[in-house]
Amino acid sequence: MKTIEDLDVAGKRVFVRADLNVPLDGSTITDDGRIRAVAPTIAKLVERGAKVVVASHLGRPKGEPDPQYSLAPVAARLGEILGTPVAFAADTVGDSARATVAALADGGVALLENLRFNAGETSKDDAERAAFAAELAALADLYVGDGFGAVHRKHASVYDLPALLPHAAGDLIATEVGVLKKLTDEVARPYVVVLGGAKVSDKLGVIDNLLKKADRILIGGGMAYTFLAAQGHEVGISLLQADQKDKCLEYLAEAEKRGVEFVLPTDVLVSADFPDLKTKAPATYEVVASDAIPADKEGLDIGPETRELYAAKLADAGTVFWNGPMGVFEHPDYANGTKAVAQALLDSPGFTVVGGGDSAAAVRILGFDETKFGHISTGGGASLEYLEGKTLPGLAALEG
Ligand code: ADP
Ligand code: MG
Repeated sequence: MKTIEDLDVAGKRVFVRADLNVPLDGSTITDDGRIRAVAPTIAKLVERGAKVVVASHLGRPKGEPDPQYSLAPVAARLGEILGTPVAFAADTVGDSARATVAALADGGVALLENLRFNAGETSKDDAERAAFAAELAALADLYVGDGFGAVHRKHASVYDLPALLPHAAGDLIATEVGVLKKLTDEVARPYVVVLGGAKVSDKLGVIDNLLKKADRILIGGGMAYTFLAAQGHEVGISLLQADQKDKCLEYLAEAEKRGVEFVLPTDVLVSADFPDLKTKAPATYEVVASDAIPADKEGLDIGPETRELYAAKLADAGTVFWNGPMGVFEHPDYANGTKAVAQALLDSPGFTVVGGGDSAAAVRILGFDETKFGHISTGGGASLEYLEGKTLPGLAALEG
């Protein structure tokens, strides 16, 4: 894979596909980690006299403009972080984009409006995607792929566009791939994997491959309940993916066969109500054994005994990969499981990697010093698919 050092960028229009998909509360950015992560690549290009054209998706608009997903607040924040003004185009490939790019001086930076305001970006139809990629290509001379969080997507700006322009990987992608290689090649043992979060089906797939590599797998968050249900326990109204229960039993059997320690929560916090994440009003909950969840209650965090158990299982780790919060950490009453795992990673002597948009945000929002972790990845889905052993379209395109 070429890096930006291999490109002659001075005076050239350089398209940077970034992942600026930050969490927003209205137009307020609640975590700017992804903006800060790509800023060094942009700054380097600025310094070398490129005309930098940055593009990203934000949220899931439906292929047409939708003001709640505008990148305008991100342009302002990117400008603050870079310490240089960032021109904002009100569209992605229209009159505003063309005029904004044409007005760029050497060393100038522009951000285009949300790529997903155009149906061609995410289209499953190759021709429709190619047509949009050609419109994007008309805005630039060179392509730098640095949107790690989107490299598992076969989207126009990720997959089709690099084929149309001389291209290289940005520093963020180079770093992310380097870390993931470390997690798949020669890992320091014990290799402990912690999985949680809400996107259960997205995450079950990675277990297949990790069972061949990890020494211990600790399960929390929403996915724990599908495992508990598979073992025949009542899980009440907890997050459950009933059609995955057989898969879960297969994983448990495979883990036993391979001698991989597979650990499920022994206790959980349950409630009849999902907490109010806006007011953060105190929640009503109780601690129950994980095999005694009442039928009318929902599991929302791992319990105190599980927190200690998981901390102990992480204490001697040589390598840790963690993806997915242990509970609904957005509410303070259900943040303790996630806090305990984050703290255990900090206390661990091993190489620790946090992957996942919400996991990374949780670490920062809960007040941990992100520089104390081995690596905080900007891409949850992308890191998981890499660890599953899949070919990622955005990385394959940069190799070519
Ligand atoms: P990541 O972005 O780190 O990959 P996910 O997007 O899969 O993680 O999951 C994050 C979300 O999971 C958080 O919003 C959190 O509130 C939610 N979550 C965690 N545990 C539970 C649970 N037991 N029930 C419902 N939601 C949960
Ligand atoms: Mg998420």
